[in-house]
Amino acid sequence: MSDTAEKPHLVILATGGTIAGSAADDTATTGYQAGALGIDVLVAAVPEVRDFAQITGEQLASLDSKDMSDEVWLKLSRRVNELLAKEDVDGIVITHGTDTLEETAYFLNLTVQSKKPVVLTGAMRPATAISADGPMNLLNAVRLAASPQSFDRGVLVCLNDQIDSARHVTKTNTTSLDTFKSPLGPLGCMNDGRPTFYNRVDRRHAGDTEFEVRNLTELPYVKIIYGHAGDDALFVDAAIKAGVRGLIYAGTGNGSIHKAAEAALARAVKAGLIVVRSTRTGSGTVIPAEQSYSEAGFLEGDSLNPQKCRILLQLALTRTTDLRQIQQMFYEY
Ligand code: ASP
Repeated sequence: MSDTAEKPHLVILATGGTIAGSAADDTATTGYQAGALGIDVLVAAVPEVRDFAQITGEQLASLDSKDMSDEVWLKLSRRVNELLAKEDVDGIVITHGTDTLEETAYFLNLTVQSKKPVVLTGAMRPATAISADGPMNLLNAVRLAASPQSFDRGVLVCLNDQIDSARHVTKTNTTSLDTFKSPLGPLGCMNDGRPTFYNRVDRRHAGDTEFEVRNLTELPYVKIIYGHAGDDALFVDAAIKAGVRGLIYAGTGNGSIHKAAEAALARAVKAGLIVVRSTRTGSGTVIPAEQSYSEAGFLEGDSLNPQKCRILLQLALTRTTDLRQIQQMFYEY
C-alpha cells in the first residue's frame, strides 16, 4: 500500500519482555535485562511495519513478564478499550514477555469490549542477539492486526509465524523459538507475512463478554495449587486461613485430587471458597469424575490450563458467587 491515508491505524503498546531485552553481547540468550529497550527502539528496528499500517507507539510498562500483576492487567485492558473505542484506531499490537503472555492475552480476551484486532507478540531471544526473533515477530503481528481477516477472532497471539487464540495457546518450552503451542490447534499461520486462517474458536471472546473491569482497582484473590504424589492439606488450609476467594487445583490426569487434599478442598468449599478442578497434563478437558467431587461442589475447568482457569475465576467472582453460574462460564468462555 502506498497511500498512507488508506493504511489502517494501529497502536503498539509496549509492556517489556525479551523482545525489548538487552544483553551485554550478541551471543547471549540468557542473563539479559528484559524490557530494557523502549517502544521507539523496537519500532525503529523494523521500519517495514510502516509499509502496512500507520503506527503510534506507547510504553505502557517495562516489565519482565514474570512480574506481571493484576494492576498492570487492569491498566492495559482499560487502555486497549479506550483506544479501540476511537473510530480512527483499527487495531492494537502488544509487545510482551513470553513467560505470562498467554495469561495477559486471555485476560484481554475476556475484558476487551471490541471486535477489532488485538495481537500479542514477543520474542525468545533478546533484541541484541544474533538472529533475534523479535523483529520478524513484530512485523508479522502488525500485518496480522492490519488484516481485515483478524476482525472478531478474539485476542490473537502471533510468534514464530504461527497464529494462535488467546484461549488455547500456552508456552511449552523454556528456550525454544517454537515454544507457543495450542493443544486444541492453532488458528492459522503467517505465510510470507500474509495471514492464513484455518480455524475459529467457538467460545465467547473479546467483543462478546460480560466482564467489565473499567472501575476495578483490584481483582479477587485466586490461587493455584499443584497436585502431586504425596500431596497433603498444607496449602489448601493456608489458603482458607489467608482469605483466598478461589482455588484452582491443577490435578493429576482428569483433574484428579489426592485424597488428603480433597478433604481439605471440601472444607474450603464449606468455608465459601470456589474450587475449580484443572489439570497439570498440559492438554485435554477436565470432565466430571468422582461423585465425591460433585458432592463437595468442585467445579470443572473445562479445557483451560490452570493459569487461565485462575483468570476466568477471578473475573467470574467479580460477577457472582453462584456455583452453577460460574460453572456455566467455564463452558462458555
Ligand atoms: N522473562 C521474559 C519475560 O517474560 C521472557 C521472555 O520475554 O521471553 O518477560
